[in-house]
Amino acid sequence: MLTLNLGTLSKNLTCFLNSAFTHNFFCIASLCGNPTHLLHFSTLVPSRSLLQTCESMDHLKQIHAFFIRKCLSSDPVVCSKIIAFCCTHGSGDMRYALHLFETMLEPNVFVWNTMVKGYSRVGSPGNAVSLYLEMLRNNVKPDNYTFPFLLKGFTPDIAMALGKGVHAHVCKFGFEFNEFVQHSLIHMYFMCGEINMARGVFDGSAKTDVLIWNVMISGFNKNNKFEESRRLFVEMEEKQIMPTAVTLISLLSAFSELKDLEAGRRVHQYVKDCNVIESDLLILNNALIDMYAGSGEMEAALGVFQRMKHTDVISWTSIVKGFLNSGRLDLARTYFDKMPEKDSVSWTAMIDGYIKENRFKDVLLLFREMQEAGDVKPDEFTMVSVLTACAHLGALELGEWVKAYIDKNRIKVDLHLGNAVIDMYFKCGNVEKAVAMFNHMPKRDKFTWTAMILGLAVNGHGRESLHFFSQMLRASETPDAVTYIGLLCACTHTGMVEQGRKFFTNMTALHGIEPNVTHYGCLVDLLGRAGRLTEAHEVIKTMPMTPNSVVWGALLAACRVHKDVEMAEMAATQLLQLEPENGGVYVLLCNIYAACKKWEKLGQLRREMMDKGIKKTPGCSLIEMNGVVHEFVAGDQSHPQSAQIYSKIEEVVGDLKLAGYVPDTSEVFMDVGEEEKEKSVSRHSEKLAIAFALMSSGPGFTIRVVKNLRMCIDCHEVAKLISRIYGRKLIVRDKTRFHHFMDGSCSCKDYW
Ligand code: ZN
Ligand code: ZN
Repeated sequence: MLTLNLGTLSKNLTCFLNSAFTHNFFCIASLCGNPTHLLHFSTLVPSRSLLQTCESMDHLKQIHAFFIRKCLSSDPVVCSKIIAFCCTHGSGDMRYALHLFETMLEPNVFVWNTMVKGYSRVGSPGNAVSLYLEMLRNNVKPDNYTFPFLLKGFTPDIAMALGKGVHAHVCKFGFEFNEFVQHSLIHMYFMCGEINMARGVFDGSAKTDVLIWNVMISGFNKNNKFEESRRLFVEMEEKQIMPTAVTLISLLSAFSELKDLEAGRRVHQYVKDCNVIESDLLILNNALIDMYAGSGEMEAALGVFQRMKHTDVISWTSIVKGFLNSGRLDLARTYFDKMPEKDSVSWTAMIDGYIKENRFKDVLLLFREMQEAGDVKPDEFTMVSVLTACAHLGALELGEWVKAYIDKNRIKVDLHLGNAVIDMYFKCGNVEKAVAMFNHMPKRDKFTWTAMILGLAVNGHGRESLHFFSQMLRASETPDAVTYIGLLCACTHTGMVEQGRKFFTNMTALHGIEPNVTHYGCLVDLLGRAGRLTEAHEVIKTMPMTPNSVVWGALLAACRVHKDVEMAEMAATQLLQLEPENGGVYVLLCNIYAACKKWEKLGQLRREMMDKGIKKTPGCSLIEMNGVVHEFVAGDQSHPQSAQIYSKIEEVVGDLKLAGYVPDTSEVFMDVGEEEKEKSVSRHSEKLAIAFALMSSGPGFTIRVVKNLRMCIDCHEVAKLISRIYGRKLIVRDKTRFHHFMDGSCSCKDYW
């Protein structure tokens, strides 16, 4: 035995020593430099303790340098410790490890395994496999650690290519019954979707350890095979294998997907019966809430929630989402407001709740609150939701602001978000910006192309729309049903009847898409607009499904333009059978009688409307001014600047009359004098919105209005005149299309 005089250890060494080391020496005699000092060591190397305290690569390099100076660097134990640090530590460096590894004469299986593990850890499965093969060439046999280390780093593509080969090696070297190896194989097979292979390994196992069941259930879940997870649960119960918290969490997520309340309740019983540790309990309870809420059992979900000692943002968000899914928006909001803290998921969930209920103004209000709260940054999901709201409201300024916000905060513009920006620009009628966004997108998918084709078409740019379609095909994207709606719409706007018919045939012949009722509506619109009313009617008679109100509505609208009273009456009768309360049908029919000077019929229809108490759905127009969305209902006096708005209308009507404008009151169904009718027409919601815009903006400002109904003839005429007399650009998005007014004419060419 040797004894050590600590005081004589070199200065260099002491700087690496700490208390742990001084209590646990692993040193060698030569380390002292002075052979007269006697040392007392159980092994030759001071490695373990020194390296245990090592915290960084820099530190490791110092220690390594020390060993080199002391000529210890070729010691296999030292080497393997240094390699282990490089391979397993968070700041480790595989290049450094490899460099050292290559200097080792005959590394043992432990060192080979460490290297394999290191490559797996840093996500280089290819290097791990090469090293494994190198190991075999060096006649080192793998042990039970080799395969789990090797398989752990596999990515789906590597698993697909090499998984079965590795499995063959497992059998060849006799590890097919090792539990850890089995776990790794099952995990690997699930990762690349080889479910039957995973099942095969599982069936060959002893099935006594709950861990292997956990691997199976989570694998089935990841592959969306929730029924299989349920089957395993039954099997587990038969075999009386006690689930762990992990098992229960995976099962709950499967039953939530399957909406299997009964199985979920059985799991709930296990949670109550098992002694689950506190931290697992939170996750389990959250999974329970999620399962109950997902199955619409909000009472049970609340029961779990209220009994929880500790809740977190996930528990609260699940409750909020549960109420949103069961359509109880206000309760969802109550819980949302009570949340002790919120994250971007909870904000986005609440925002999406409003979107689903078409409460877009509330979306913008909530988004503003989110910003004022300031503690959570919106992410790309929030941005998509807010953009959707802007698109619906036609709120271009806000939409632009969101776009600027995205750019400034470097929010990741993924495909989904890029597509939402394009959609927002189109829905706000800003074609140039939509095209610019498209040009800036590094990646595009079929939704991007479809958004372009549809957006250009409804904004009246039919030819450009078709041009984008040929580009889409050249980019090898496959069109879908919505793309074809865009194409038919583009043909309608440009009067390309034959081309449209060809698309209608091609969608099935070339792309296997069966036309749905919307496509038939487009076809009727296409033919009707071109004046081919009989042909359009023929389409309706022969279409394979029952025509809906959109289809008949398209025919009726065509009858108005082409002044076909008989066909109009027939279409209106059909429409009213589907929607007896639809005031819009009466309005259209009145328009047609008026246009064809059938005064008697017009009077009769008006009386019928009054007798039946048919009312027009109140018109409602939205306009955004300085980032605020203003809402106007016909005859509305609730706006704070109401008085000025009405006098502005009078002024404008005066100007227009000088230019030859005669109010068209044919859509007024009140039994009153002409003056009263004119007054009623002058209070239409889009006129209020336009007057408000005229008085609150300068000449260069484009007026953008979104209307819930079809624009009436009078408002359409007034908008055209305003665009000429005041030199303003106006864009009105009504129920079915965009009207871009400029220099006295409209992009719809008076067909809407
Ligand atoms: Zn109007
Ligand atoms: Zn128009």
